[in-house]
Amino acid sequence: MISKLQMEKLQTIYAQAHTMTSKGKAASYIPALAEADSTAFSVSMISMDDTIELGNCSETFTLQSVVKVLSFMVATHHHGIEEIMRYVDVEPTGDSFNSIVRLESNKNKPFNPMINAGAITIASLLPGQTMFEKVKSVTSFLEEILNKQVTINNEVYLSEYHSADYNRAIAYILQANGFLKSDVEVALQVYLQLCSISVNTSDLAKIALYLATNGHNSEAKCSKKIINFAKALMMTCGLYNFSGKFAAFVGLPAKSGVSGAIIAVVKDGEIEHLKGPIGIGLFGPAIDDVGNSVAGIDFLEKLSKEYDLFCL
Ligand code: GLU
Repeated sequence: MISKLQMEKLQTIYAQAHTMTSKGKAASYIPALAEADSTAFSVSMISMDDTIELGNCSETFTLQSVVKVLSFMVATHHHGIEEIMRYVDVEPTGDSFNSIVRLESNKNKPFNPMINAGAITIASLLPGQTMFEKVKSVTSFLEEILNKQVTINNEVYLSEYHSADYNRAIAYILQANGFLKSDVEVALQVYLQLCSISVNTSDLAKIALYLATNGHNSEAKCSKKIINFAKALMMTCGLYNFSGKFAAFVGLPAKSGVSGAIIAVVKDGEIEHLKGPIGIGLFGPAIDDVGNSVAGIDFLEKLSKEYDLFCL
């Protein structure tokens, strides 16, 4: 049993980060996300045998770009790293997540699977022919990690679909250059459906723990090599245009989404009574200009410093 005093350091980090929600605002590019309570902030941390929860961890939200890690692993498990790298590179860009600007350089190949261009290519490469089969390949993988059924938030999906001009444009450029393995519509709908999967912070923490343990003891099958590949991508490209600074100041593989979700992976650490591999899931819908949860980033910066989690 953990004493109140021990948790005080963590509670202070949480309380300080919570005040940062006033410095950001909920994503406004679709109404379904703009309605989120921008003062919300919750954190789940899970080790192999214990949990810490701060804030309202049962609140649900959509995975958004965090799903890019899962779809990358599923597609790569299916095709192998060599084949995947014929379609998408693993280089950071420093451009915004939906940027089109580099699709005419690097031999037209998307720079990495964590930006939209790469993620739409990956969506087209998922196992199965139809939209349903491709979406199912990722939801089944996630269900095995979480040991429960997952649902797609249809309101968010429809909202995304009806404001997908940039993503549709990206998909057409990818198709024109031979980097789509399905129709434009299938790739686009799969990508947007996956962004709209509903989760809570405990689910995020379990995804992060899966990565931290290299899939140890999980029904969800993916090789250690591919999981390490995914973590390298998170470290170099996971936090939009803040990825370099996050790697330098926090030093943890992480991935964020515009819903205010973040997963962060602690390979081996000690946070209060949690020891060993730890998965961290955060939700704070107030995001900054590049798309990261302001409270989430602040919390992880302080947590990494106070508990010496920097993994490089
Ligand atoms: N559905 C969003 C889009 O592609 C995902 C954005 C994100 O979380 O980065 O526009």
